[in-house]
Amino acid sequence: MTKPVPETLANLGERGLIARMRGAMPSRADVLIGAGDDCALVAWTEREDLVLKSDPVREGHHFLPDTDSRLVGRKALARVLSDFASMGAEPRWALADLVAPADAPVSRIEGVFEGFAALAREHGVALVGGDTSCGDALELHVFCAGAVPHGRALLRSGAKPGDLLFSTGPLGDSFATGRHLTFEPRLAAGRRLRDAGAHACIDVSDGLASELWHLARESGMHLHVDLSAIPVSPTLAGRPDAIAHALGDGEDFELLFAATAPVEAEPGALPYPPAFGRVVGPAPGGAVTCSATPGGAPRPLPESGFDHFLAT
Ligand SMILES: [Mg+2]
Repeated sequence: MTKPVPETLANLGERGLIARMRGAMPSRADVLIGAGDDCALVAWTEREDLVLKSDPVREGHHFLPDTDSRLVGRKALARVLSDFASMGAEPRWALADLVAPADAPVSRIEGVFEGFAALAREHGVALVGGDTSCGDALELHVFCAGAVPHGRALLRSGAKPGDLLFSTGPLGDSFATGRHLTFEPRLAAGRRLRDAGAHACIDVSDGLASELWHLARESGMHLHVDLSAIPVSPTLAGRPDAIAHALGDGEDFELLFAATAPVEAEPGALPYPPAFGRVVGPAPGGAVTCSATPGGAPRPLPESGFDHFLAT
């Protein structure tokens, strides 16, 4: 008799885990958006909704043992700020929990907080506390709170039939160029999209394919993508695997958004690339298709973005 295979995170996957936990989470009447979007939203004042987000970075997973420690601290905060950007929100206060081996050089930890503090100052974020714990490898867990004008947050669930799909910048070379450590969180772009009336938004952290599926599912829509129109990074130009990198690599931290028409980029920024897809219409549970060329035969787009558990 074969033994039943125990269910593990590796075969459940991140999405499966979140879907299962979402139904069992304790809630309150003032929770506006719980798990399932880039940040949580809570009713706060008449003018503003409270925005909450946390995220860890771990050695060997998000950075390497020899990564410049200032970039480790910077990336840990930048990832959280990118989620604030995707909602058009303003981050204000941060807490950071540090996990490190007892023999870690103090200079390495100082470097982590140097990088964190420099980015925090740039965006007006105060570091108001946190905690430390001993562990096998370096980790930094960042929690941020902030605000968005009441009822104005950009959500994953807002895509509407006829919307066009855009990215705020090129995709696919974050690992080849090391930009996953140095990217600028697109906070100004997020506010721009919010004020321009974009319908839905998500940051590209796990890969474009994965983010398209998140938008499709949360909006209950069928999205269609013209693969030849995906804005791939210029450093990948001419490479046959450029689109695969854009769809699957992740950590580009540009914003994927749905809007009725192109949006003019914020002052000082490069223009956003032209649309590469559209919202076809309602589809319960969401659907994403693609074609190799404009008007080409549609086929399903696999959700081949990065999954934190399936990839291990
Ligand atoms: Mg996100």
